[in-house]
Amino acid sequence: MVKLLSDAIKEMYDKYVEKESLLPIKISDFYMKKVVKEIETIGTGGPLYLSVVPTLDKFNVFTSVETRDYVEEFKHMPISGVDYIIQKYEDRVLVIITEMCFSHCQYCFRTYNLSNYQKSNLKENIQRKILVLKEYLRKNTNIREVILSGGDPLSIGYENMDYVLSELKQWNIRIHTRAIIYSPFAIDTRMIKLFSEYRIRLIFHINHPYEICDVVKKKIFELNEKGIRLYAQFPLLRGINDNSIVLLELLTLMDELHIRPLSIFIPDPISYSASFRIGFDRILSIMDELNWSTPSWVNSVRFVMDTTHGKVRRENIVARDGKCITFCRNGKYIDYYDLDDGIDIPSDIKILLWKSKKAKF
Ligand code: SF4
Repeated sequence: MVKLLSDAIKEMYDKYVEKESLLPIKISDFYMKKVVKEIETIGTGGPLYLSVVPTLDKFNVFTSVETRDYVEEFKHMPISGVDYIIQKYEDRVLVIITEMCFSHCQYCFRTYNLSNYQKSNLKENIQRKILVLKEYLRKNTNIREVILSGGDPLSIGYENMDYVLSELKQWNIRIHTRAIIYSPFAIDTRMIKLFSEYRIRLIFHINHPYEICDVVKKKIFELNEKGIRLYAQFPLLRGINDNSIVLLELLTLMDELHIRPLSIFIPDPISYSASFRIGFDRILSIMDELNWSTPSWVNSVRFVMDTTHGKVRRENIVARDGKCITFCRNGKYIDYYDLDDGIDIPSDIKILLWKSKKAKF
């Protein structure tokens, strides 16, 4: 029997969950099998392990400037007292349809907000949210797309999803989910039929090629067969995918599976995430390596950073002063603070791609 983490770390983590509103450890059975296989092969600390299991670094690695909510979602909640509708762009609106996830990612940037959302009866909660959302949509006719986010929207189940999609059918709907790698069976035949009927765009958050096993591939084929439009976006994370070889393998797999990668996110400087963050110069090197060594169907993916004023890219950098990197978007300036020196230790590719015999190390 594999032991996931020591009692001491578990005890410490539980205290932080209570005091600091971190998400409790939650790992789906499906993902747990992969984590156990990884531990049996290379011990703890592999990419799938770090995705869902806290380590001492979570509490010990900090950098000078970090915050609980870098993108300041609360500033983009257009209805007073409503904390589940977020609008940053004129033509789209995001709704936190549930705070539940199939598993809890250790790098989650919404940890603080998710753990603070009100929890009540799921069905009533969803109906109330949709009522408020539709009222808002009726008054804001520029909005063309509703983004279902969370938590994981697929965790609400078929009946609730049917209700949500039928209520919102006059808008384009996009669903962001990690269900495909945490609980692919949640995407069953009925759910796929719904997605097809309502012409849903599914945006997968897949961080590492080993998250795509044969079961996941089969589910993706089923979605492909029904013509569901599949996309991906994921964060660049130390210990998980901080190497252009890993990105190449992941993006190649996505291409084979007809998943269009949209964005690779530079992680926000949020509290308790420093152990996942990468120094800014190394981020630029990884971008360049990917750009220079791969065909355009791989490197056309955008590296972006989410900010309170929207997404910014490398070409939006207007100044760099020590650790402060300033971006400009639409005339608005955003300061991003790089990691303190000595924190960013590049991951060992032999650990990141522990199954590979062919990777050039
Ligand atoms: S699935 Fe998304 S919302 Fe849920 S814990 Fe992971 S990153 Fe956070």
